[in-house]
Amino acid sequence: MQGITLRQQIRRFFWRQTRQYQVLAIETSCDDTCASVLNYQKGTKTANVLSHVRASLNSTDFGGIIPTKAHEHHQRHIAKVVTEALSANGIERRSIKFVCVTKGPGMLGSLSTGLSFAKGLCLAWNIPLLGVHHMLGHLLIPRIKSSTPSFPFLSLLVSGGHTMLVKSTTLDTHEILCDTIDIAAGDALDKCGRRLGFRGTMIAREMYKFIQRSPACIDHKTKLPKLPTPLNQGPNRQLTRFSFAPFYTMVDRGLDTLPQPLTEAQRRSISLQVQDSVFEHIVTKIQTTLTKLRGLDNAEHDMVVSGGVGSNKILRDKLENCLPETRFHYPDAELCTDNAVMIGWAGIELYEEFGDQIFDDLSIEPVRKWPLSDILINPTSVM
Ligand code: AMP
Ligand code: ZN
Repeated sequence: MQGITLRQQIRRFFWRQTRQYQVLAIETSCDDTCASVLNYQKGTKTANVLSHVRASLNSTDFGGIIPTKAHEHHQRHIAKVVTEALSANGIERRSIKFVCVTKGPGMLGSLSTGLSFAKGLCLAWNIPLLGVHHMLGHLLIPRIKSSTPSFPFLSLLVSGGHTMLVKSTTLDTHEILCDTIDIAAGDALDKCGRRLGFRGTMIAREMYKFIQRSPACIDHKTKLPKLPTPLNQGPNRQLTRFSFAPFYTMVDRGLDTLPQPLTEAQRRSISLQVQDSVFEHIVTKIQTTLTKLRGLDNAEHDMVVSGGVGSNKILRDKLENCLPETRFHYPDAELCTDNAVMIGWAGIELYEEFGDQIFDDLSIEPVRKWPLSDILINPTSVM
């Protein structure tokens, strides 16, 4: 560095270390309209959440998420949610360096609402746009506080739309080791819970809360005649795949064989059996996968557990008991379900690794299916 004094050099060094910037993040891949502003500190490689706003669609009356209803919900709430996120203390419009938005995978109508809104802001503010992979958000979010775990690590992403075990070697190298052949664990639990009479925006969470409320009030004698152990017989035992659809089928049939209405203690007993058997399946298939993987490297020592179902304490305890060698990393419960903080954080990590070249053109489109293995390939269209 010629022409500048030592004092200037030192000042520049510290300025670079402590440099900070803000990002606005928007997430609308499914039925939650979310926005957040994060403040990134270069020195500590961590971010503060300055705002975190979410408006969830209440699908109670529809029995599941209807894409057109989700689209309407986003259209109605996006401006309000983003305005609220931008109005929190400590946010300065001029400090916002770029906008991160979920580009995929997800429902097209939902994604396009957030993406179009983000493009408009980037155009108006003359700042770059960064389209982020939704699942990258889920698996990187525990790193927001302390940059741990470091690569390589595993992630169990267990939500309403996905259930997969992923191995991440670098920021842009992800391999799905075990995926579901039918529906996601959260979807299956929601369906079983609905059949058991629970209602709400997250039925599996309602069922969990009901179990936890008075664990002693349980009728152990009331049992479903049969609960499945999917892909666990004969050669299927070695299959590194999850399957959750059979749980709903069995619960639906099994409940018909029990006298109705169920008492609270009976309902708690059935809920616990369903939840336990779903979690048993998850852990069994992780063990099968890890047995195949073991010896290849040490990625299995760290595991992120993310996605809405990942906030369940019974699942966490089961994972810790069955995989004692593994160090688990959990996001805060608020950040387990879909949120914009994780999209902002994943955007920051990508920017810090790849610089300006990571930014997207304003012509990018939402992507319904986007393999995690192609995180940096720009899928141009609706797949
Ligand atoms: P996500 O798709 O990541 O937004 O997560 C939503 C899914 O997680 C829904 O299926 C919820 O019912 C489920 N969920 C949220 N909290 C819990 C919990 N504590 N136990 C089980 N499932 C949960
Ligand atoms: Zn999600």
